[in-house]
Amino acid sequence: MTPILHIDMDAYFASVEQACNPSLRGKPVVVCGETSADKRWGRTIIVTSSYEARKFGIKTGMSVPEAKRLCPGVQLVFGNPDKYIDTSLQIHRIFLKYTPLVEPFSVDECFIDPAAAWDDCRRIAGKMKNEIRQSFGITCSAGIGPNKLTAKLASGMQKPDGLTEIRPEKIPELFQKLPVQELCGIGEKTAEKLNFLGIKTAGQLGSAREGLLTTHFGVIGPRLKRMGLGIDESPVASYWAERIIKSVGHTHTLPEDTGDIEIIRAFLRLMAEKVSDRMMEYKLMGKTVSAVIRYDDFESANRQTTLRRHTNSGLAIYEAAIKIFNGFLPLRKNVRMTGVSVSSLMPENNEQFLFERLAKNQRLDKLVHALNKKYGDFFVKPASLLIAENFGIKDRCGMIGQHIFDKNISKKSS
Ligand SMILES: [Mg+2]
Repeated sequence: MTPILHIDMDAYFASVEQACNPSLRGKPVVVCGETSADKRWGRTIIVTSSYEARKFGIKTGMSVPEAKRLCPGVQLVFGNPDKYIDTSLQIHRIFLKYTPLVEPFSVDECFIDPAAAWDDCRRIAGKMKNEIRQSFGITCSAGIGPNKLTAKLASGMQKPDGLTEIRPEKIPELFQKLPVQELCGIGEKTAEKLNFLGIKTAGQLGSAREGLLTTHFGVIGPRLKRMGLGIDESPVASYWAERIIKSVGHTHTLPEDTGDIEIIRAFLRLMAEKVSDRMMEYKLMGKTVSAVIRYDDFESANRQTTLRRHTNSGLAIYEAAIKIFNGFLPLRKNVRMTGVSVSSLMPENNEQFLFERLAKNQRLDKLVHALNKKYGDFFVKPASLLIAENFGIKDRCGMIGQHIFDKNISKKSS
C-alpha cells in the first residue's frame, strides 16, 4: 500500500488576502464573513485570521469587537469567496499534474493519492508546496500517512508550512496520547460521549470492546474502533468523479391541491431544509437554486437563480426559492407539487459550515411546528418525505419533479 497525502492551506482566506494586497503582509489580518444569518442579526464573524492575528488570541467564530479588543490594530477584510474558490481551483491544477486521484475535502484541503512509495510521496509533496508558494505566494501544510485518516492528522501537526509523515509503525505510540477528537470524523458530541465512557485517547478507542461501542454508537461502533487503530480503507476519489453530482433536489406532492400561498411557502421551506441537510451530508455547497411548482393540470413552472456565493444554508436556499416563487404569482391554478434543487456544486467550505451551525437551531423546529399546527400533529414525519428522499441527486436541475411526476401518472392510470 502506498501512502496518502493530505494538503491543507495555512490560514487560507487570510493568506490569499495578504498575497493579493502587500500592505496586509506580516500584519494581523482577519477575514470577516457575511451570511444570511448575519444580515438578520446584524453580526459579523471572524472566518479566518492570519497567523499574526492568532498570536493575539483571535480565533475563528469570534465577533469583530472581540477581535478588536484583543488586537486594536487588527486589519479587517471582508471575505471574497469567489476569489478563494477560484484560487482553490487553480491549486487543484497543480495537484492534478501528479494524479487524477485528488479529492477536495473543503475549500482549502485535498486528499491526494500519488500512488508513489513513501520517499517519492514526500518529494511530490515538497514539489507541490513549492509550486503553490511560487504561484500564489501562500503556504500549505502537507501530511503523509498510510491512509486518509492519518494523512489528515499529519498535516495538522506542524502548521504552518509543515511536511509531516506518520509511518504505520509509529501509529500505536502516537495514538496512545492523542485525544479522540483529534481524529477527523469524531466531532464534539461523539468525543463527549466517548469521554463519558472513559475513552479519552485514540489508543483507548482502538482497544475498546467493539460490543461496547456498538451499544452506544450503533452501526458506527466498529468504524470508531478501526479509527482508534488508525485503520481507514476509504479510497481517494477521482477529481473528475466528484463532478458527477451536479445537483441536489427535493420535491413533494402536497396532501391536496392548494392555492394557499402560505402553505406552498411552508413546503418550499421544508424542501429547502431537506436539500440543505443532504448537501451537508454530502459536504457540498451550491450556487444555483431552482424552484418548481406543478399545477393541478400537470403543467409546471420552473425557474432558477444564481446566488452571489456558494451555500448550503437552508435559509439562503429558501430565500432564493421564494424569490422565484413570487415570480409565479398570482397563481392561475392550484398547485399539486413543489420542489427545490441546488446545482453548480462544489465541495463544502468548512468555514461557512460554522455559520450554518449557528443558524441551524431555530430553523426546522419552527417549520415543523407550523406545518403540524396547520395539518394536525404528526403530519410531518419521515414517511411523508420518503419519495422525495428516494428522488435523491439528479443529473440535471431541470429534471427536478420528473420522477415524482411519472409516479403520479402511473398511479393514476393503474
Ligand atoms: Mg486550512
